[in-house]
Amino acid sequence: MKIHEYQGKELLKKFQVPVPRGEVAETPQEARTVAEELGNGPFVVKAQIHAGGRGKGGGIKVAATPEEVENAANRILGMTLVTPQTGPEGRLVNKVLVEQAQEIEKELYLGIVLDRTSAQPVLMMSSAGGMEIEEVAARTPELIIKETVDPTAGCMPYQARNLAFGVGLGPQLIRPAVSFIDNLYRMFTALDCSLAEINPLVVTKKGEMLALDAKINLDDNALFRHHDLAALEDPEEMDPLEHEARKHHLNYIRLSGNIGAMVNGAGLAMATMDLIKAAGAEPANFLDVGGGASAEMVTNGFRIILADPQVKGVLINIFGGILRCDVLANGVVQAVKEVQVKVPIIVRLEGTNVELGREILQNSGLKFTVATDMMDAARKVAALVQ
Ligand code: ADP
Ligand code: MG
Repeated sequence: MKIHEYQGKELLKKFQVPVPRGEVAETPQEARTVAEELGNGPFVVKAQIHAGGRGKGGGIKVAATPEEVENAANRILGMTLVTPQTGPEGRLVNKVLVEQAQEIEKELYLGIVLDRTSAQPVLMMSSAGGMEIEEVAARTPELIIKETVDPTAGCMPYQARNLAFGVGLGPQLIRPAVSFIDNLYRMFTALDCSLAEINPLVVTKKGEMLALDAKINLDDNALFRHHDLAALEDPEEMDPLEHEARKHHLNYIRLSGNIGAMVNGAGLAMATMDLIKAAGAEPANFLDVGGGASAEMVTNGFRIILADPQVKGVLINIFGGILRCDVLANGVVQAVKEVQVKVPIIVRLEGTNVELGREILQNSGLKFTVATDMMDAARKVAALVQ
């Protein structure tokens, strides 16, 4: 789950990671009040969207006075901000963060991610802050210093020192850097983050270290033990269909193709997407309705797939195990009653109660094509949408 910069900074504060003073605002008037309460300018007004590169897209403005803050907020709020990370459609800005502008001496990068290869958190620090880390990694990988942390031992002081010295910080900055890194790591583990990225981490002219930006992603699978964090979710930032799917406990991810796929089991769903591609078409979604899905979940899944206007054909690929074929068929039939199906449907059904499932579909009045096996199903649906 992604959260906004202002929310990330609230969390950082709780873990004693220093951030600029600031507050979120939803109207230009509120933004002005925040600036007045902060006191001395200059201020920075920052668009809050779940994407980076805001500076380049015009979503970050410096303002000298509360009045200028109001004007800047007026321009930013309600704008559709396009950045290299939003795609051409951009994102609507509903909130701004107003904070004290810092006099920047140096911009660094600090990030913690879970490295799936070593199955351990990796700390990365770079003197090339403010730039996209992927670009730094591609062009000047020697500027990225890494430390892999044994999660049972935690981040050791020597590791934090290696990073701080490695990016060329002077002696008086080693101590604050070490505690910055240590605190960020504590937050990363305590909150079950999947990513904690501070870019830039700045050294100010006064010699302070501050998190100027905060990109914090939380592990969805751990949210059940952080109910307070689940509330940070912003539905406006989510794909509406993905949001709807989550309400029904469906694992649905929207993709850019035009073949909707209804599958049970994540592995089978992945294989189905591969087959759709192998047949020369593109999947419109990943959907694992799950092993123990009810007819109602199938109905919701089918409805969500069809709600995507990109979808020009649907492939139902079910291997009935715990989810029986008749339950699936009943779910599909129910969905068909609720929504009009205007696209061709290909069904590949095998496993428990397959005969019964086929019978239910056949008697439903729904027009569909039966496939003999998975590859046949993928070829047929690809041919139909072309
Ligand atoms: P993004 O990554 O989306 O572009 P950042 O928060 O990293 O947004 O801000 C981009 C740039 O704007 C920073 O690299 C920094 O130069 C400037 N900036 C952001 N916040 C402040 C601040 N509080 N004071 C001074 N400059 C800032
Ligand atoms: Mg940034």
